[in-house]
Amino acid sequence: MQNRKMTGRKRVALVAHDNKKTELIEWAIYNKTALSRHRLYATGTTGKMLEDALDQSITRYLSGPLGGDQQIGARIAEGKIDVLIFFWDPMEAQPHDPDIKALLRLGVVWNIPIACDRATADFLLTSPLMYEDYEVIIPNYHSYLNRAQP
Ligand code: PGA
Repeated sequence: MQNRKMTGRKRVALVAHDNKKTELIEWAIYNKTALSRHRLYATGTTGKMLEDALDQSITRYLSGPLGGDQQIGARIAEGKIDVLIFFWDPMEAQPHDPDIKALLRLGVVWNIPIACDRATADFLLTSPLMYEDYEVIIPNYHSYLNRAQP
């Protein structure tokens, strides 16, 4: 399996659960200039709110509970999303809990940077690597793919 090159213009996916949307929008407005240097993707409602708050077009997928988290997970698996900012709600169960787990899992499977809270999002967005080419080391799944079949 090949490593993957991220360019200095990252493809950033943003998702926030309802109780975390205000926080994400505040964070995004504060970081508007930095975010304008990247391409943005989001689940439906988060994306609509971000579009209203930022002067930037955003690729919007379905609302999270309707499949948006899974769409973003699929893009990560395809190497089409570089960074995930996912403000999930630690205080409330969601109807699409399995999708949330799946999205976080795929982020780790494909070794992309993930921020699940505002402090980590700050550290991530201020990293010089956000603005440089970066080679993502894709974990070696060779032995898994070639495992013996019963
Ligand atoms: P939403 O989805 O942006 O459409 O609200 C987020 C989520 O709950 O995954």
